Amino acid sequence: MSYRGFNKPISTNWTTRDWLSWAMDERLLLDVRTDIPEGVCAGCYGGTDKTYEDTTFVRDPSGFMTLHTELRRWPRCFPCNSFDGLDGILPISYSLGNRLESAIWRAKNDTAHRWLNVPLASILHTFLSSHLECIEDKWGPVDVITVVPSHATARGGWDHMKDLISKVRTWPGKGVWELDLLEKVGLSNADTRRDRPRADLFQLMPDKGAIEGQRVLLLDDTYTTGGTLRSAGLAVKAAGGQPIAVTIGRQVRNDQYGAHIVADATNRAPLFDPRRCAIH
Ligand SMILES: [Zn+2]
Ligand SMILES: [Zn+2]
Repeated sequence: MSYRGFNKPISTNWTTRDWLSWAMDERLLLDVRTDIPEGVCAGCYGGTDKTYEDTTFVRDPSGFMTLHTELRRWPRCFPCNSFDGLDGILPISYSLGNRLESAIWRAKNDTAHRWLNVPLASILHTFLSSHLECIEDKWGPVDVITVVPSHATARGGWDHMKDLISKVRTWPGKGVWELDLLEKVGLSNADTRRDRPRADLFQLMPDKGAIEGQRVLLLDDTYTTGGTLRSAGLAVKAAGGQPIAVTIGRQVRNDQYGAHIVADATNRAPLFDPRRCAIH
């Protein structure tokens, strides 16, 4: 995958709204929709990866019953069907290689592009300002908002999500933010079997009190298979909490699993509407 670069706009005192407009002008964002005819996972909004034969009897005009077989996609993807870890996931935008995925990758892995955390934070801020209410309608009041942290030794100690949050001064959900809730104790995901969450990848910070029965909203930059996010969710569950997640991006590939989503999302006008979320 080659990721595109971005020219930093000459911005003085841009607001989150200005940065959101910039991101939309750069065509980074694509609505996450649930009304695409078939093959969108009801759990994570990615493409579902399996098909099954749906067989029905149909009466033809002359009255004979004939067997009719149609290939259908599953309503949920394999990881959502198989793995525990999160009570719910809400991505803000579909993320394609030359769009949002490039911005997220550059912000994280290219120090000359770290300024991209400002527009990314603006996207997250705008979304939470409008949709924290929908999240609470669906999953109940949020008691704690936190981030999926990086490992202390990753990127020279620079934590991508904590840096991103620091780019905006005030966030919705006043009083429930607790950035240092989890720590990443596993060194890398390399030993993670694909998609499968690991209960030992994250743990509650040692000085944290009980979060028993608390609704915890985990924020992360992107969702691919959900392995990392679900691992963080498992740590919350192990401490008695109830994890849900919001991610800025939901990666989809233009392949047999995701092509129909990519086509639908990129043919839509407007590409992204900040007043919309996938659950309302
Ligand atoms: Zn899924
Ligand atoms: Zn909403």
